[in-house]
Amino acid sequence: MKPVIALVGRPNVGKSTLFNRLTRSRDALVADLPGLTRDRHYGEGRVGERPFLVIDTGGFEPVAKEGIMHQMAKQTKQAVAEADIVVFLVDGRQGLTPHDKTITDFLRKSGRPVMLVVNKSEGMRYTAVVSDFYELGLGEPYSISSAHGDGVADLVEEALNLA
Ligand code: GDP
Ligand code: MG
Repeated sequence: MKPVIALVGRPNVGKSTLFNRLTRSRDALVADLPGLTRDRHYGEGRVGERPFLVIDTGGFEPVAKEGIMHQMAKQTKQAVAEADIVVFLVDGRQGLTPHDKTITDFLRKSGRPVMLVVNKSEGMRYTAVVSDFYELGLGEPYSISSAHGDGVADLVEEALNLA
């Protein structure tokens, strides 16, 4: 069985950009419009000899009771349940949002291993980019740039070690 990495986070943090980089495909829909990726989306990646599966998810809207946002939340929950390791992406340029805290609560209850990953960190100092996020209580944050690739190889290697 290949280990499964689920990419989770609120809309627009860069999940699909990371998915594309990991799978080296244009499969996942990347757009400037938040929340455009509405379905779970599976791809296969590889580091060295180690293959893995990665799931891109739509945005996470646990407050919605019905409609498309409810459906997206449901799919994200399924992805988390299937995951060996959850990569929880947040946005280092926007900083911590209430939505990030809601997702943290859900992930903690899920019992899955979680890596907190601060994206969009290119050109910023590590200490500055991660400082907001310690209060989530998910340990030492990783920092990456999905768009530029900084830190992505190390992230995957660590994810596979924890999976
Ligand atoms: P998703 O909604 O979480 O899937 O986010 P997307 O992958 O669609 O990205 C949302 C926006 O953030 C797009 O405009 C991306 O180009 C941008 N983005 C993604 N990763 C990075 C990054 O590492 N740095 C910067 N500056 N922008 C990024
Ligand atoms: Mg997306």
